[in-house]
Amino acid sequence: ATPTAIMVGTGLGAKRGILFKNATALETSARIDTVVMDKTGTLTKGQPDVTDIVAAPGMTQDEVLALVAAVERESEHPLARAIVGRATQTRVPVYAASDFRNVAGHGATASVQGRRVAVGNRRLMTAENVDLGDLAKAREDLAAAGRTAVLAAVDGRAVAVLALADAPRETAAAAVRALHEQGIEVVMLTGDNEATARRIAGRLGIDTVIAEVLPGDKADKVAELQRAGKKVAMVGDGVNDAPALATADIGVAIGAGTDVAIETADIVLMRSDPLDVPVALRIGRGTLRKMR
Ligand code: ADP
Ligand code: MG
Repeated sequence: ATPTAIMVGTGLGAKRGILFKNATALETSARIDTVVMDKTGTLTKGQPDVTDIVAAPGMTQDEVLALVAAVERESEHPLARAIVGRATQTRVPVYAASDFRNVAGHGATASVQGRRVAVGNRRLMTAENVDLGDLAKAREDLAAAGRTAVLAAVDGRAVAVLALADAPRETAAAAVRALHEQGIEVVMLTGDNEATARRIAGRLGIDTVIAEVLPGDKADKVAELQRAGKKVAMVGDGVNDAPALATADIGVAIGAGTDVAIETADIVLMRSDPLDVPVALRIGRGTLRKMR
């Protein structure tokens, strides 16, 4: 594109808080045919709330919270923060934990009151040899409803399912619609459970879902799409997303996201508005048109 076209494109973006880091970012935007979006913090607000606690027989909800929050207090994960927040709000005294261990893409474990407590997803329970028993059905129902189900086990016995809801950003569905109108395919990429992801994707009008992806594997999923001939823009907010942002033809970071994501990206959306994704791509195409 001509220097003038680049200047105009960059200026149009800046007016909306869309920062193109360089001319290549603008030009490549024009050629994107697939937009991959991280779920948590990108399509959703990334501030989950605990909506339900299903305790196994013999356990009260408060006992569950006291144990689970003890582990989660040591974790930085948004789900962990939500669970600790719930314990604080309901004034449940939280136990002390030791030997905390974070298991990326799975959850966390710690020793609480001399017992081994594991908190995380089904994959973690499998790794811990925990049989979900009657709680399996509760987990399934909550996931089908679009909730993120967090499982808890004490000394290898499943004791609870906690359900967390993370509201979609107000403009997420409109952004998907606008991208589809531009003939662009939209893919959801997430570490969350398949059923949960599909339900939320359905509400947003996204038909392709890649779920239960481990943090280290997001970039590989982007590379796979590229090998299939797609020109990919990856939109994300988290530390986990940075390698995928770097791999994609264009990396787009949500302004409210982590520093690592913002540094790695080619485009930064300062307003953290998903609708700015289709706008950015349209600006890119406008820039390229002026070149001819
Ligand atoms: P996402 O792509 O959803 O941001 P992550 O890779 O951070 O995902 O986590 C994937 C999944 O691992 C989460 O959806 C959750 O089920 C589980 N998980 C990870 N850390 C925790 C934790 N501290 N507490 C509970 N569950 C966790
Ligand atoms: Mg995220």
